[in-house]
Amino acid sequence: MAVSDHVDFNGFMEGVKRRNPHQPEFVQAVQEVAEDIFDFIEDKEEYHAQQILRRIAEPDRVVSFRVCWEDDNGNIRVQRGYRVQNNNAIGPYKGGIRFHPSVNESVLKFLAFEQTFKNALTGLPMGGGKGGSNFNPKGKSVREIMRFCQSFMTELYRHIGADIDVPAGDIGVGGREIGYMFGQYKRITNQFTGVLTGKGLEFGGSLIRPEATGYGAVYFLADMLAVKGADLGGKTAVISGSGNVATHAAEKIVHLGGKPVTLSDSGGFIHDPEGLTLEKINWVKAHKTHRRGRISEYCDEFTGASYHEGKTPWGVPCDVALPCATQNELLGADARTLVANGCVAVSEGANMPSDLEAVHVFKDAKIMFAPGKAANAGGVAVSGLEMSQNSERRSWSEAELQQMLKDIMAGIHARCLTYGEQGGGYVDYVKGANIAGFKKVADAMLAFGVV
Ligand code: NDP
Repeated sequence: MAVSDHVDFNGFMEGVKRRNPHQPEFVQAVQEVAEDIFDFIEDKEEYHAQQILRRIAEPDRVVSFRVCWEDDNGNIRVQRGYRVQNNNAIGPYKGGIRFHPSVNESVLKFLAFEQTFKNALTGLPMGGGKGGSNFNPKGKSVREIMRFCQSFMTELYRHIGADIDVPAGDIGVGGREIGYMFGQYKRITNQFTGVLTGKGLEFGGSLIRPEATGYGAVYFLADMLAVKGADLGGKTAVISGSGNVATHAAEKIVHLGGKPVTLSDSGGFIHDPEGLTLEKINWVKAHKTHRRGRISEYCDEFTGASYHEGKTPWGVPCDVALPCATQNELLGADARTLVANGCVAVSEGANMPSDLEAVHVFKDAKIMFAPGKAANAGGVAVSGLEMSQNSERRSWSEAELQQMLKDIMAGIHARCLTYGEQGGGYVDYVKGANIAGFKKVADAMLAFGVV
């Protein structure tokens, strides 16, 4: 008789913890998925016999490498670079690159694990990966950033390729950094291929890629509200972060008639009771991206707003909330405050911004809660469309791409409903997303046998 992994949930998680010591973010991400998957596979013997969950929770490979670069004062600096290739059962590895001092193996393994399910949910043929470095771009000159990106790619290039692994941007990596990395890849390999997404429009980038994650998170929010016969018109939205995802989420909230009242960064948050207009959001985009400014300076520019140093925005009363900064930025107590203040829906623009306790608070209160792997999949979906455009050597129009993004988000929402409807009008979107994403990857793995 085959040895199966018919262990109980606690036994499974004990094994994950033992095999991944000092990797709390990775263990947390696996636990959140396993909580739902255990119920789903209870009566599905082939998943047990083939140890599918155990195999998905073990990355295909983790590459770690040294990145040396020279700062403007001639000092030699040494950083650590990574690429985690989690699973390529349904397509080439795909996932962003993060430059932030908090980057380590645990954070990237959690992100690559989540990415695997997210990419499956989009319906596009993409596996899951993630990479990055503990390099801190803050305070660095443009030339230092260019030298770092070139050095990072000088090692990374041997592990990636248009049909192997296609990285994109993430925290600290925007269009500029992708340009430097693409330039170095092309210089080393002498190939112009769709090896990275998030590229400039002049060299194979796709329209609406910068907007896609934030817009998609709001489309998903609107889809959830529509199930209840509601919409975003007149709704107050609390948003964290002030980077790519947060500013585009705020923009789409305004387009759909809502009122965003907060943004934040790692220093604190601003509260603008009048609401952020498109003009104010454009100022934030330019201020954070081009001037590398702080969100606190918003209050010098616009009267009526207040700055709250060292705080997160979850205490501001709202109808809907969009955490769009980073992992574990919304804790159990914050979730209780949001629910008590009447928040009816949360859509995660960031990856795993709510900790496990917060997720349980939202589920217990039965409010609409969209986990990042569903709600923020719009970014990678448009990256997938960028890959298709590169392969076909063509560019789709903005109108075509906007429609495709909307349709993909609606498709993800529908897949969540398939496995998440709990009766009585309540949809468990976490469960729906976990099971729909898992099933697609798991069934492909079954088809391949033991590899
Ligand atoms: P950006 O680098 O553009 O912005 C990140 C924002 O989060 C900044 O405002 C930053 O503030 C803030 N932030 C970072 N770390 C912390 C922290 N420890 N505490 C509080 N605030 C913090 O990144 P993105 O907008 O691209 O990414 C945001 C989130 O969305 C991440 O979780 C990312 O993985 C996820 N995501 C991004 C996608 C994309 O397409 N870009 C796709 C899918 C998910 P500060 O300036 O002070 O650092």
